[in-house]
Amino acid sequence: MEELKEIIRDVHDFPKKGIVFKDITTLLADAKSFHKMIELLGNRYTGKHVDKVIGIEARGFIIASAVAYKLEAGLVLARKPGKLPAETFKKTYALEYGTDALEIHVDAIKHGENILIVDDVLATGGTMAATVDIVEAMGGSMMECCFMAELEFLNGRSKLPKDKVYSLLKF
Ligand code: AMP
Repeated sequence: MEELKEIIRDVHDFPKKGIVFKDITTLLADAKSFHKMIELLGNRYTGKHVDKVIGIEARGFIIASAVAYKLEAGLVLARKPGKLPAETFKKTYALEYGTDALEIHVDAIKHGENILIVDDVLATGGTMAATVDIVEAMGGSMMECCFMAELEFLNGRSKLPKDKVYSLLKF
C-alpha cells in the first residue's frame, strides 16, 4: 500500500495556493500500480452483486470504469451540469466558494439496484454526498462510497453515510 501512496505525486499550490493536489496520473501511468489498485478495489466487491458502479466526473470515471468491468457491472456517469444529453436528476451542492452540481440520467438507475459509487479522492466529501443524495432519491440501494485515496484531515467521511465509506489509501 505504501508503494501505491508513494507513486501519487503531490503538486503544491494547485489549483490554488495552499492546496496540496494529489496527482493520480503518475499512478495511472505505472502499469503495475494501476493494475494493483484496480485489483484491490475490485476484489473488495467481487461476489457482492453490484448492479451499477457510478463514476464521478472526471477522474472517478477512470477508476469506476475499470472496477465496473472487473465486476461485470454497469457503469453510470455522474456528470457536471449540461454534459448529459437526456433527461437528468440534478443535485446542487455547496463548495468553499459558491455551488456546483452533478447530474445522472433518470433512467440510469432502477429502483432497488445495488449501487457502488467510486471517486478518486475523498476531500471535504461534498461531491460524494451529492451523489449519494441522487442515488437515494432515485431509489438505488447504496452499497458503499469507494475512494482510491482519502485526505483524512478534512474529515469528509462525516458528510457520508456511516459505515458505508471505504478508501484504499489514507493520507
Ligand atoms: P470533495 O471536497 O470531497 O467534494 O472533493 C471534490 C473533488 O475534488 C473530488 O472528486 C476530488 O477528486 C477532488 N479533490 C479535492 N481535493 C483534492 C486534492 N487535494 N487532490 C486531488 N483531488 C482533490
